[in-house]
Amino acid sequence: MPKIKPRVPMKEQPALQRIKNFDSVPYGYTEDQAVEEAARCIQCKKPACESACPVNIGIKEMNLLISQRKFKEAYLLVKEDNAFPACSGRVCPQEKQCEGDCILKKFDQPVSIGKLEAFIADWGAAHQVEVQECISDNEDKHIAIVGSGPAGLACAAECRKYGYAVTIYETLHKAGGVLQYGIPEFRLPKDIVDDEVAKLEAKGVKIVLNNTVGQNIYYYELVSQNDAVFLAMGAGAPKFMGIQGENPLDGVYSSNEFLIRANLMKAYKFPEWDTPIDVGKIVAVLGAGNVAMDAARTAIRLGAEEVHIIYRRTKEYAPARAEELHHALEEGIIFHELVNPVRFHGNDEGFIDYMELARMELVEQADGSLRPMPIPGSNFYMGVDTIIEALGTVPNRLFLDRAPEIKRDKNGVIIVDENYMTSVEGTFAGGDAASGAATVIKALGEGKNAAKAIHTYLSGAS
Ligand SMILES: Cc1cc2nc3c(=O)[nH]c(=O)nc-3n(C[C@H](O)[C@H](O)[C@H](O)COP(=O)(O)OP(=O)(O)OC[C@H]3O[C@@H](n4cnc5c(N)ncnc54)[C@H](O)[C@@H]3O)c2cc1C
Ligand code: SF4
Repeated sequence: MPKIKPRVPMKEQPALQRIKNFDSVPYGYTEDQAVEEAARCIQCKKPACESACPVNIGIKEMNLLISQRKFKEAYLLVKEDNAFPACSGRVCPQEKQCEGDCILKKFDQPVSIGKLEAFIADWGAAHQVEVQECISDNEDKHIAIVGSGPAGLACAAECRKYGYAVTIYETLHKAGGVLQYGIPEFRLPKDIVDDEVAKLEAKGVKIVLNNTVGQNIYYYELVSQNDAVFLAMGAGAPKFMGIQGENPLDGVYSSNEFLIRANLMKAYKFPEWDTPIDVGKIVAVLGAGNVAMDAARTAIRLGAEEVHIIYRRTKEYAPARAEELHHALEEGIIFHELVNPVRFHGNDEGFIDYMELARMELVEQADGSLRPMPIPGSNFYMGVDTIIEALGTVPNRLFLDRAPEIKRDKNGVIIVDENYMTSVEGTFAGGDAASGAATVIKALGEGKNAAKAIHTYLSGAS
């Protein structure tokens, strides 16, 4: 094997500068940098990277085309498999997917596939490359989609290709789901999401905002007015610790509430935007996934003096993307391993004042797994002004409780068959609503595959 060149590093905003703004952290590759990085790909006979991608992007071909400066061709190739590469290139856990299986990883650093995907997506958008799609004529058939996150958007894009009339219903005032309201601007600039949504609308997808299915329009109305329904409501209801002192205290947020205020309602632009948010001086974020990193990094940008991540396992078990954890630590977020809150204590005004924590140890179970268990007598206290709980989410019950014929499991996750069909014929589901909280690319893949299943159902094609 020829000597492998090192990865082309990406320039980033320095940590001390970026904690004072919400601008993107990575600056993106220049054309020359992208060419150099793509040329590191050794063009494997069996590209393991592609099988590890949930939407099977032609990564090897993309790398070849970029290395030959055929940017337009690379862009069109990527768009064939993934309608939203600018988003997935920035937020996918690449180290666990494509880059995790890149053959170069055995000898050196894998090809920077995610950053090349983001580069080519940005290049295509900047050069206004039009994706020519042959839209067939099926406008007499109507599909309703509930939720405009990645699953709903990907399903809409694919259903439109088949020519169906598509309407998305979205409860919020902006389309994009978590891409819009959850993931902060410094990781995923919102003009990118807006641009992708606008392109979809230009293709004829109708998006009805400020419209909650189950409240403004009922499920049975959607069923009677459409030939198929796709449920992509995500999993937006937060889980809480359920410990003493939690409920009545001010200053205890769910990560969703905190991030929606900050991102969607632009609290970081207060007073220009009329959304106040009080983060206090000392913030504790419970959990260590992407959501926790986003909340912690948002809190430090909103002026908190100290931000602490509280995690009951050790860093290596943190479910966050490696890059986000790395960026958070660079930004001065303090990571506490093997600790777990057991009680919250408030002051006389009803605000959180301090929390009681137990030290934990990882105890081996019969099946070999390690379970965090409290160490008896290890409790200690920590003063805090704000607590943000980022402990995972489950599907929101608002709509589903009014449509009991749609079967769900004990966690409220919609049950689907191998064709994404729910217990109601003609109603399909995908994304976090049908898999539990997962990833953007999984939601995109399920949206796209569900569209194929819907097409088969409506046309009788196989
Ligand atoms: C803060 C945060 C950070 C994340 N970071 C990453 C990351 O870095 N990488 C990654 O891969 N994944 C990440 N994820 C997970 C990822 O965003 C989700 O897995 C993905 O967005 C799921 O897509 P979805 O389309 O199923 O649902 P969502 O994105 O949740 O979209 C569902 C949409 O449906 C709408 N809706 C709900 N109920 C109704 C109703 N009754 N009527 C109308 N509309 C309704 C909601 O308002 C929402 O817009 C993150 C999640 C969060 C919360
Ligand atoms: S596995 Fe790595 S080296 Fe092989 S084709 Fe994919 S990106 Fe290129």
